[in-house]
Amino acid sequence: MSESVLDPQAAAIDPTAAMFDQLMTDDPRLRLFAELMRAQHQASAAEPAEEVLRRLREQHERLRTAYVSLKGRSEQLAAAAGACPNCWGEKSACRYCRGEGTPGAFMPDWELFAQYIMPAVRRRAALTRTTPGGHTANPKEE
Ligand SMILES: [Zn+2]
Repeated sequence: MSESVLDPQAAAIDPTAAMFDQLMTDDPRLRLFAELMRAQHQASAAEPAEEVLRRLREQHERLRTAYVSLKGRSEQLAAAAGACPNCWGEKSACRYCRGEGTPGAFMPDWELFAQYIMPAVRRRAALTRTTPGGHTANPKEE
């Protein structure tokens, strides 16, 4: 009898593998067929569908969480800048602004403006004040 590629322990817990074991005979053609079927079965069982589904659900949840977080931040920044929260004035088909919602198009939310925009304005103003002649340290910024 030739050596089998079958794993007896796997056959004990896997009924399909046990069926392939039953096909193992001294007939080399049937034996080859059984070993090929077994190899295909093992390959498909390498990552069970439930595991693939679980992994995809985890990825989906991580992406959804990131999307919700980034969408919320984008909406806050748009409100701070007085821009359309949907498209920032970049989509002429936007149902909120028809592409007219660039920053400053709407009244900014002053609380969000103070939180997100003012620190950058103060930083820029401080840089301008400390540079001789009121110029920025980086001429490309002007
Ligand atoms: Zn818009």
